[in-house]
Amino acid sequence: MTTTSVQLDTVPHWIAGAPAASTSAAIAEIVDPATGRAVRTVGLGGADIVDEAVASARSAAEAWGATPTPARATILLAFRSLLLEHGEELASIITAEQGKTLADARGEVARSIEAVEVAASAVQQLKGEYAEQVARGVDTYSFRQPLGVCAGITPFNFPVMVPVSMFAAAIACGNSFVLKPSEKVPSASVRLAQLLADAGLPDGVFNVVHGGIDAVNALIDHPDVAAISFVGSTPVAREIYRRSAELGKKVQALGGANNHLVVMPDADVDAAADALVSAAYGAAGQRCMAVPVAVVVGDIADEVVAKTAQRAKAFRTGPGDADGSDMGPLISEAAIERVRSALDTAEGQGGSLVVDGRAADPHGSAGYFIGPSLVDHVQTDSDLYQDEIFGPVLSVVRVEDLDEALRVVNASPYGNGASIFTASGVASRHFAHHVQAGSVGINVPIPVPISWFGFGGWGDSRFGDDGLNYDAYRFYTRGKVVTQRWTEPRTGVAPNFVAAGNQ
Ligand code: NAD
Repeated sequence: MTTTSVQLDTVPHWIAGAPAASTSAAIAEIVDPATGRAVRTVGLGGADIVDEAVASARSAAEAWGATPTPARATILLAFRSLLLEHGEELASIITAEQGKTLADARGEVARSIEAVEVAASAVQQLKGEYAEQVARGVDTYSFRQPLGVCAGITPFNFPVMVPVSMFAAAIACGNSFVLKPSEKVPSASVRLAQLLADAGLPDGVFNVVHGGIDAVNALIDHPDVAAISFVGSTPVAREIYRRSAELGKKVQALGGANNHLVVMPDADVDAAADALVSAAYGAAGQRCMAVPVAVVVGDIADEVVAKTAQRAKAFRTGPGDADGSDMGPLISEAAIERVRSALDTAEGQGGSLVVDGRAADPHGSAGYFIGPSLVDHVQTDSDLYQDEIFGPVLSVVRVEDLDEALRVVNASPYGNGASIFTASGVASRHFAHHVQAGSVGINVPIPVPISWFGFGGWGDSRFGDDGLNYDAYRFYTRGKVVTQRWTEPRTGVAPNFVAAGNQ
């Protein structure tokens, strides 16, 4: 479906404060998923360009790390102003390459601005502890210091928010950064780099390299890269975690998901059905916190399915920049095929198709569109349930009671998010306490916390410690503890440990 009949612009890398032309022989097309047409190209860099980017980051790291935290925050606040000023332009870039609706892209920019606001308050996050007189004349205090050069590898579904949530925190902590964005949506990163430069960020503190596996491996293996942040699918997250850990690097690798929303018999069914279609089909299901599974408790299941189906049929699929689209296209032909084949096998494995998105072909053969699908009576051993479909498909699993619902949710290898819809505080509290997930919603379908809290899943949804946002301040720093005596010097040899109070 992709054709390159005209000379397309190539998205540059960004190194040492300026665009750097791609010299890679390997080139990938960037396709507008709403039309299926190539709109730009991107060079797939390898070790050479990674070496250049890391050298740039390394040469900037020392001076940036020595820059007072409030001065770093001033630049981040200027960047925040530029994000506000250029929000509409960034949303358009997101929609053009990722496909999500403009309204959703604006929301992504808004959440990115929030992450920058937290980063700008880094003094608060980096405050250490102080204990006076832990022995006679002795005080102990702790503080955190930057790591040096950090690298981030990001997925296609949030071209702005995921990169910003990594680099804003890393830079606020005094590190320099090399970003390797998804090769499917590379343009936003370069625009962000330009805005950071306009905000006054010194050259080399932020760099962007484009590429695929070779660039990622070169970043991990580079001896001057101290820490790796990754967000993407679980198999890749697991491999990145293994490779980085073997080299003794700090690594956080956030993976895929299969989030559940439990609907209790006392829930407001209209509110639950609204939440289900929004969370399952918004962004065409291409969110790590999307809800592909509804676990419906007791005899309200028929009503929940009927009301959700009604809303799914009214959900409008269309280009992200068209008025009235509720969801845009999927990212690629391969993603469409994944959804189609999941639906093909679902019925043979016990599911009953209530709404079939394959039938909806709103734009002929152009673009990677598929409508919302709703599958009832899904079995937990079916492929549809087991795989991360990452498309607009909602599975309904019927259960008898809350304990069975929890058993279903907790048997999933993933643990990114889980929600419950209920009128009962007792059920909510029981759910929040027992559910195996990093982010929990109570009458909230997509419980991505505000950035003043940490974000990251459990199980196969995250490898390594420390998530993003508020948790990232620990990840991007290392601690030091100082024990000092500033009294008259004490003399006398003391070869043995003694309790502090006896010193
Ligand atoms: P992906 O794993 O295919 O790619 C992510 C990044 O890794 C890209 O930059 C890509 O170039 C690189 N990459 C791909 N294969 C690689 C390999 N074999 N070795 C090294 N690097 C490789 O993910 P995607 O399709 O871009 O994004 C969708 C996935 O991301 C979904 O699974 C989704 O759940 C997940 N995701 C998770 C979160 C979270 O917070 N847990 C957030 C957003 C997306």
